[in-house]
Amino acid sequence: MKGFFKISNFIIDENKIADDLNLLTDKLSRLGLQTSDGLGGPTGYGTYFENEVFGMHPYCWCDQNDCAWCAGCTCDDGVYSFYSKEGIEVSLENYLTNISDNYLLKDEKLICDYCKGVVVVAPNFWHKKSNSWIYWYKYIGRSMDVELNKNWNEIFNEVLTSLPDSLIHDTDFYAVNLKAPKRK
Ligand SMILES: [Zn+2]
Ligand SMILES: [Zn+2]
Repeated sequence: MKGFFKISNFIIDENKIADDLNLLTDKLSRLGLQTSDGLGGPTGYGTYFENEVFGMHPYCWCDQNDCAWCAGCTCDDGVYSFYSKEGIEVSLENYLTNISDNYLLKDEKLICDYCKGVVVVAPNFWHKKSNSWIYWYKYIGRSMDVELNKNWNEIFNEVLTSLPDSLIHDTDFYAVNLKAPKRK
């Protein structure tokens, strides 16, 4: 799970949001953008697109720490110590395989920007004006993290209205040029 917040000032109906995001993906594919097909269905993964109102970026599998959609901890060895459930100090590898949730930060000054919260993983859907963000895991609707700062129906209406009649660019253009939004 890459997202980490579930706070919202507005009612969240994840099923409705997922249906709408599927519909949006369908509309974008009809405009010529590529979508991937798989367990999530032909509209289940979203696609790459951005305009002045919103942005969309599929779940990313690249796992590179310099990818805004995959950002993760880049702390050096020794910043944390890890313990087993029994409290015995173990290697990071051992800790990750046994997931004990038992670790200790040794030096707060040494932690990376991700651990400091300066770098935030980019969302899979974002509404620019309201700074509303949505994450999904692999496909739309799965383990979603939703933070809305505006009513979803209003957001989605703005999104639909913002869609052009045709696109000048193709999927690759959007994939390369998408800019991860910044937390406000
Ligand atoms: Zn990535
Ligand atoms: Zn870190």
